[in-house]
Amino acid sequence: MRDVIIFVEHNGGQTRKVTFELAAEARRLADALGGKAHALVAGVGSAALARQLQNHPLDKIFHTDDADVDKFLLDPVVDYLEAVAKVTGPAAILVPNTMLGRDVAGRIVARLDAGLASDVTELRVENGRVHCIAPKLQGSTITTCAFKGGDYGVITVRPNAFAAQLQATGAELVPLEKPAGKTYGMVVESDVEEATGEIGLEEAAVVVSGGRGLGGPEPFETLLKPLAEALGGAVGASRAAADAGWVPYSLQIGQTGKIVSPQLYIAVGISGAIQHKVGMQTAGTIVAINRDGTVPIGETADLLVVGDLFQIIPALTTLVQEAKAAHT
Ligand SMILES: Cc1cc2nc3c(=O)[nH]c(=O)nc-3n(C[C@H](O)[C@H](O)[C@H](O)COP(=O)(O)OP(=O)(O)OC[C@H]3O[C@@H](n4cnc5c(N)ncnc54)[C@H](O)[C@@H]3O)c2cc1C
Repeated sequence: MRDVIIFVEHNGGQTRKVTFELAAEARRLADALGGKAHALVAGVGSAALARQLQNHPLDKIFHTDDADVDKFLLDPVVDYLEAVAKVTGPAAILVPNTMLGRDVAGRIVARLDAGLASDVTELRVENGRVHCIAPKLQGSTITTCAFKGGDYGVITVRPNAFAAQLQATGAELVPLEKPAGKTYGMVVESDVEEATGEIGLEEAAVVVSGGRGLGGPEPFETLLKPLAEALGGAVGASRAAADAGWVPYSLQIGQTGKIVSPQLYIAVGISGAIQHKVGMQTAGTIVAINRDGTVPIGETADLLVVGDLFQIIPALTTLVQEAKAAHT
């Protein structure tokens, strides 16, 4: 495999940030393999998104505005990805490790009889082979795996693991023909948009998470949300908070929730059970705020602030807001 293809995830006319991270990593990998870096963007509005992607270091951007991609569940987009893979020949296919990306990855692996590496946080090329580094077993083990030599390898990449790179390399726009003879059965009846207008948790550079220590749903709105907004981040939660019905499960971080890797993770009133830690321990800097100085989150945190969150969070929010105001 020499070329690299990225699957572009987009929603509401916006390309997800992880796409730009994949584009930069695809360029680096393709250069190391001696191949080219390509992208597939499919669905209504893709022609415009493809033009925006020309600001990123790609060689070809395959695109289609086919409305069937939005109307039917998964199969049309997988058809297009398969078509691009057949055009380029043997390739590594990078897909975001998101809800949609994981579904797409599972299907394209079956279509291409490819290998799969999931939740990858680092990639390198050695002797012409792509090596994938990924945390496993709840982060207790870091694995390195390489594809055995088949034509295709599919890699789901953790958002925030790589830096995006703005660099126009004159990528060619390639419109795609609709694959012939396809019929689709699974119609998308409606698309439920959670947390409209907020930054996606998995992609946020800053996550402010709350746990049982918040004591109810209100402090998520009145304390955590203002702090997250001041820091340009998103609100997350422990399972205890989600189980209590204080926040939707879509905010839950951990083993049975979302895995996040922001630059800054602030755990507020969260004890740091292993099932929570596996969802956030790869964050760049971890700050915990807890009234108990002996909590397990203290072992993972770079900074454990011992005190009452109801006093600390408003004061911290004010400091951040003042600092921002001073710099504008
Ligand atoms: C199979 C399985 C899967 C699981 N998956 C997940 C998962 O994905 N994510 C997850 O989070 N959990 C998960 N759990 C649950 C996990 O084991 C813990 O029960 C949960 O994480 C605890 O949540 P918490 O830290 O909010 O609550 P607690 O453990 O009750 O901690 C609350 C903390 O708040 C502090 N506190 C209280 N009041 C204040 C205050 N005024 N100021 C400052 N600090 C205060 C306390 O000192 C305490 O440390 C899972 C469990 C199982 C068995």
